[in-house]
Amino acid sequence: MRLQVIGDPVLHSLSPRIHSAMLAELGLDVPYTAHVVKKGGLPEYLAWAKENGITGFNATMPHKEDLLPLLDELGEDAGRFGAVNTVCLRGGKWIGHNTDGAGCLAALDEAGMWPAKKIVVLGAGGAAKAIALKLASFGAERVWVCNRTLAKAERLCTLPNMTAAVFDPDTLKRLCAEADLVVNGTNLGMEGQGQFPDFGFLEALREGAGVFDAIYHPAETELLKRAKERGMKACNGLPMLIHQAIFALEYFLDRPLDHERMAEVIKSVL
Ligand code: NAP
Repeated sequence: MRLQVIGDPVLHSLSPRIHSAMLAELGLDVPYTAHVVKKGGLPEYLAWAKENGITGFNATMPHKEDLLPLLDELGEDAGRFGAVNTVCLRGGKWIGHNTDGAGCLAALDEAGMWPAKKIVVLGAGGAAKAIALKLASFGAERVWVCNRTLAKAERLCTLPNMTAAVFDPDTLKRLCAEADLVVNGTNLGMEGQGQFPDFGFLEALREGAGVFDAIYHPAETELLKRAKERGMKACNGLPMLIHQAIFALEYFLDRPLDHERMAEVIKSVL
């Protein structure tokens, strides 16, 4: 058994550290390494991987969508999101999964923010898409997806309980007044990526509402800091990152793992 994470860039990825720590904890002598695969290089990589004993790999940019037509089967979430982050070799077939949505759901549950009925998702990129579609298909009554580029939000809203909206202060305030959870899936709040021009939407949220930020670096974004100051439940993206990795290893090993124990192991190496 041999595992990898592929992407470009990929050498900064935390996945080798995270997965190696879990594999060591489980007493498994399985190498997990980062491997640069350039855009367009997937067919060659898949052939090489089979010949070289790679039994599973995680995928990051720019491959999450490009993998879809190249795999033999897709799990439910991978098919629904149109993106793959975990691929396993089973009986000579490549099976693609996506663990981002399940990772977010587990993080929300742990933080006491799930179940939520009315959810505002900010952003319509890869992270926001997985989160919005997972929550909309897993019991949310209404998910509003607010994005700077409205057309991207419209393309994402494929379920009847999803609505696309623009990303402007008045719209955010109006929708947040109805919501019990707001999720930041934009880059706003990451170092060098800009900041929310207006936090008025936080004031509009109901008492007891939750704020989830997919960003994990910095650990406390301005959004989370302000949410905490207002006495709201607040959670960063680290638990999502941790749970999506545990779900991925469950696919690789084809067995359930103790999430609490694995999360402790991961936290000890980050
Ligand atoms: P992405 O696909 O590039 O999407 C970025 C999103 O942010 C888009 O919706 C984009 O809007 C929006 N955005 C960027 N700059 C903006 C601005 N100045 N004003 C308003 N909207 C802006 O990125 P991604 O992969 O989804 O990642 C998004 C965030 O999630 C990152 O911070 C990443 O670290 C985090 N993330 C966390 C996890 C985890 O496990 N915790 C996993 C994946 C990602 P447009 O569509 O208009 O460009």
